[in-house]
Amino acid sequence: QVVTRFAPSPTGYLHIGGARTALFNWAYARKTGGKMLLRIEDTDRERSTEAAVTALIDGLTWLGLTWEGEPISQFGRAARHAEIAHELVKMGHAYYCYCSPAELDQMREEARAAGKPPRYNGYWRDRDPKEAPAGVEPVIRIKAPLTGEIVVNDHVQGKVVFKTENLDDFIILRSDGTPTYMHAVVVDDHDMGVTHIIRGDDHLTNAARQIVIYNAMGWTVPDMSHIPLIHGPDGAKLSKRHGALGVEAYRQMGYLPEALRNYLARLGWSHDDDEIFSTEQMVEWFSLEGLNKGAARFDFVKLESINGHYIREAKPDYLYDIMVATAEEVGRLADLEGLVANKATALAALPELQPRAKTILELIDLAQFIYASRPLAIDAAASALLTPDARGVLADMEETLRGLNEWSVPAIDAAMRALAETKGLKLGKLAQPLRAALTGRTVSPGIFEVMVLIGREESMARLEDQIS
Ligand code: GLU
Repeated sequence: QVVTRFAPSPTGYLHIGGARTALFNWAYARKTGGKMLLRIEDTDRERSTEAAVTALIDGLTWLGLTWEGEPISQFGRAARHAEIAHELVKMGHAYYCYCSPAELDQMREEARAAGKPPRYNGYWRDRDPKEAPAGVEPVIRIKAPLTGEIVVNDHVQGKVVFKTENLDDFIILRSDGTPTYMHAVVVDDHDMGVTHIIRGDDHLTNAARQIVIYNAMGWTVPDMSHIPLIHGPDGAKLSKRHGALGVEAYRQMGYLPEALRNYLARLGWSHDDDEIFSTEQMVEWFSLEGLNKGAARFDFVKLESINGHYIREAKPDYLYDIMVATAEEVGRLADLEGLVANKATALAALPELQPRAKTILELIDLAQFIYASRPLAIDAAASALLTPDARGVLADMEETLRGLNEWSVPAIDAAMRALAETKGLKLGKLAQPLRAALTGRTVSPGIFEVMVLIGREESMARLEDQIS
């Protein structure tokens, strides 16, 4: 059975890159009928927080990425990590090292002077521990192979060869008895029965070191896939401005979880030229061979357009609930007062709004003026349009509209064009104050559509509010 894992460090939010890693691990487990485990890499006690663990779990849950069993705390397994480190010493694959910081400094200096990369020179590798200085708590170092090479057979990167001369005898257990990250990951992955590791390619060189530990223990090395990190649109490291945010920020910006899943899937994985596909479809198509070797570039425009697709396709009652939840989360519940008070009409009108919004926030904006209570709040830019002259034109329009037999976009459009012609004005000169009066804004969907959406009675009432 395939066992994957997502192993975030709880030092912040579930960032977008982590979410993508989790999605791939989840999809692969689903596809193969296996399971994904969640391991919280909380050994860095200074930087790990309970709040970050909660944020990770909330983020995964919102994205719909589920794992099997309880999350596993890496810190909680420290005794097991120490046990294996000591076992490696007994097996002759690791040893106690008593070097002082000053001695290590000197070693680095000497290496540097000889033009070599600064690293541990194996001083205690074959030395008798009886020579150990009194009162020094040793660290445990692994015996890295002295010759040959370590090969990482990676699904994405191919065959990556590391020369052993570049690997020193790195520490696996610190003098205080705590494991190093490198060691903890291997012991945990082994004990958890992980068969496939999918993670960022910033861990590729770690993989070579981890294989040294696997080999020393005689454990099977999991199948590995190191995926290229997400870059900004300019190809540079992803910045906050370009999307390096926690998934909760995407929720607050009004993205739907299914849209984010679709977008993240395409960011580093592909199936032919398919851009839009359901999560079920993705799972069905998913393969490690489909993971891309090239760096992915984050593109908000594409994410928006995919999100717009999912908004258009969504059921109104589903969107309604998300609109209310999002408004609540971002402190805009008051903007939806009218919508909440008129749920039935809101649900009926949503299909008209859906094609006009790319995010839930845009949908909230639209709904806000459609279901606003009267008299409408008019923003500063709209106010500036409502000059005495413009109000005079509004009065003419009101009269024309009152005489209409039919309240439809073509009927309103024809009447307004006729009026503009009689007055010798451009249609825009009519539409601008009309929009200001009916929406309180200078930007909105087509104003005649808005009039149909809010209905004849409400349209006339809002107009009258601005005339008298
Ligand atoms: N905790 C590591 C990270 O958040 C992941 C380690 C791994 O996947 O092996 O980058």
